[in-house]
Order: sequence, then C-alpha cells, then structure tokens
Amino acid sequence: MKIRIVTLGCKLNFAESSQLMNTLIAKGHQRAGNGEEADLVIVNTCSVTDTADHKDRQAIHRVRRENPNARIVVTGCYARLKPQEISAMAEVDRVVQKAEDKFVPAYSKDDRTRCFLKVQDGCNYFCTYCTIPIARGRSRNPFIFEVVEEAQKALQEGAKEIILTGVNIGDFGHTTNERFIDLLRALDNIAGDFRIRISSCEPNLLSDEIIDFVAQSRHFAPHFHIPLQSGSDEVLKIMHRHYDTALFSERIRHIREVMPHAFIGVDCMVGVRGETEERFQTYVDYVNALPVSQLHVFTYSERANTRMLEMDLPVVPQKERQRRSRILHEISDWKLKAFYDSYRGQKATVLWESKRDKGLMYGFTENYIKVSCPYDKSKVNTFEEITV
Ligand code: SF4
Repeated sequence: MKIRIVTLGCKLNFAESSQLMNTLIAKGHQRAGNGEEADLVIVNTCSVTDTADHKDRQAIHRVRRENPNARIVVTGCYARLKPQEISAMAEVDRVVQKAEDKFVPAYSKDDRTRCFLKVQDGCNYFCTYCTIPIARGRSRNPFIFEVVEEAQKALQEGAKEIILTGVNIGDFGHTTNERFIDLLRALDNIAGDFRIRISSCEPNLLSDEIIDFVAQSRHFAPHFHIPLQSGSDEVLKIMHRHYDTALFSERIRHIREVMPHAFIGVDCMVGVRGETEERFQTYVDYVNALPVSQLHVFTYSERANTRMLEMDLPVVPQKERQRRSRILHEISDWKLKAFYDSYRGQKATVLWESKRDKGLMYGFTENYIKVSCPYDKSKVNTFEEITV
C-alpha cells in the first residue's frame, strides 16, 4: 500500500509521524512519492488553538482533493478532543482517537542534520487554559537507557544535533523513578561530535542544577526555551501555573550569570480570561525588562473542557487579543535584533543544514543565531567555526 502521512502542529507530532511511517514501511508498505496518489493518507492533527483546528480541516480537504480514492484516517490531538467534528467530515474514513497511556518512543529528522527525540509525553499539570493533558494523557517517559539507545541510533544515522522533545520534558522521570538531570548526564556522556538542545522546559523544573550542568556540559547548547505565559502574577495564578514572576526572573538571572551568551526564547500567551488592561500592562513592563532573546507569542483561544471556561472572569475581546499580540511581537522583534547585534563579529560554531534557497544555505550557531553562506554541498551537516 502507498501511504502518505500529513503532519500538523508540534515537533512531537512530527517525531511520532516519522516513527509511524518507519513502522509501516517495516511492515512492507511504501511511502507515496511527491505528487503520487496514495492508497492511505494519515492526517496527524494538532488542536492547540482554534486556528490549529481550522488548519487541520483545511489539510483534510486538501488531502481528499489530491487523493480522491485514498482511505483517509485522522489521528492526533484534534481527533482525540473532537472526534465527532472530524467524523462529520465527508472526506474522513476513520478517526483514531485513543490517547496512548504507555510511552511510544519516536524520533524524526527534519533533514539529515537535526533529530527531534521524544523523551517524554503527556502532562499532569492541568493549566486552566490547556487541553493537552486531555489530548495526550498523563506524563510518562521511557527509561534513561532507552533514550540513550535511541539517541545513539539517530547519531549513527548521521544526525549532528538532537533536540529533546516532549510535552513537559522537565517532568521526565515521573514513570521510571529517574531524574531529568540524570538523563542529561547520560546523554552528555555519549562520545562524538554533536550537540543537544533542550526544547521547552517549565521554569519550576529548570533547576539551578540543570542550568549549571548545561553550562559545563560537552554537548548541550546554551539555548533555553522557557514558557512564561504571563508576566502578571495574578494571571499566572488564574492559569494555574506552577511559578510566579519572581521565580521566573531568578531562573533567567541564573542562566545569564553562568551563560551570558545563551539564547533564551520565552513562550508568552496573550488575551486569556482575566487578563485585564492593568494586568496586561504589568506583563508588558515585565517582559520589556526581562533579559531574554525572543518571545514566542500565542493568542489565547477558548478550548472546550478547560477549567478557564468555568471561571468567572472578564473575557478579552478578539480585537484586543490581536492588539496585545502585536505589542508582544514588537517587543520580541527588538529583543531578537538586540541579541543578534550583540554577537556581530564574535566567533561561533555553525551546523550547516541541507536546504538550498536562492543559492544560499543556512545553519544555527550553538546559541541559535541563524546564519547563511553561499551553498556548498560539502558543508552540509558539518560544523564550521565562523565569525557572526
Ligand atoms: S504544563 Fe500546562 S500548558 Fe503545558 S502541557 Fe501541561 S497543562 Fe498544558
């Protein structure tokens, strides 16, 4: 059977799709080529916002247009959260909605260079705006030795960068009675010329011990991605987050102390219920002063079955949500520019990627500065010392 998998959403979905395709190929199926009609199309969906749901539906329409005779199976978070909505679509033959309660290992490679390694799945936090614990189930993880084996496999296949991926990766160890820091130590002990990035880690779980370890490690890049979500302590409480701004500031201060050159990306949500104008202003003042490199801005959208909908809170109008999003995007733009500018003329190591675009190739430094140079095939998937 010729199979195509269409993936939307996060790195975890991409890792899982890649694993699923490998399993299907091992069972004797084939990957449908570019432009070739498939017999079976699996759409792996995301449901983080209303926009994500909309993109899922658009993808399903497109898949049917391009594969008029294929069987279409829909899986992923949208399928788990709103199976009736998808079943009602004429294009869809089957909805697979069961959330896995065991850990399914997976990794994917976006090209030969980077590998997204799934080290954890699910979440036990139940933030009041979030549906992920419902869609993906409870926090779970493999044993450290299993992650090390998967990492070694990816490295043998040529990966030069491993990105640790999960829903709440700082929670690693929950199901195996191990610790996230010990996972990092075990991965750092693998021999070879490669680097590792930790993807998003909750600030309350990003301990000083982890930060200090990354600073002196062999393989870990000085790159952090930390969800802040709001700069107002009152809103953080409404969101049922596990920290306040004082703890968040302390984490950033510590990173800057031991890794002044680190890239720090911060997730910021705007427009949640209860985010009054005054609280938003507190938020803006807070992020303005925060020494981070970039903000990843998300606009809140109401999700069914979340506790925020049951709370008696003022609703931020859609237009105002957009305005707040623009304000944070602007702050992010100047922060990123300032971060890049401060590295001009400095030495760094870049890992060149395979993509060719208008005669150029691209890569990232250890601290996540994107650089380009004229395309040179021999540089693909190699490290090079450069001056930024
Ligand atoms: S930590 Fe909160 S926002 Fe993140 S997945 Fe868990 S419940 Fe959702």
